[in-house]
Amino acid sequence: LDHTSFRPRLGLLPIVTSAIRQKPANDNARPWRCRACGALLGVAQGGELHVKYKDSEVWIVGTCRRTCRRCGERNEVTVDASPTKEGT
Ligand SMILES: [Zn+2]
Repeated sequence: LDHTSFRPRLGLLPIVTSAIRQKPANDNARPWRCRACGALLGVAQGGELHVKYKDSEVWIVGTCRRTCRRCGERNEVTVDASPTKEGT
């Protein structure tokens, strides 16, 4: 029996945030800054991107685009959930 069934490629798919909740929130935080002016757009941390806007906060896993509110530059960042322990 050969079983050459296709496999979905992990890493290209955005991962649903609610699936990942086992890490302490403070390991290696990395600021995401505007590439043009350096304004802080968010913080990548523990495989999630944390973005604050006014009164709301969002956590994103995968690719995020955001227009800099200071200079208008479009920025894009991809945050991968660090080593997934999904077994298969
Ligand atoms: Zn900017």
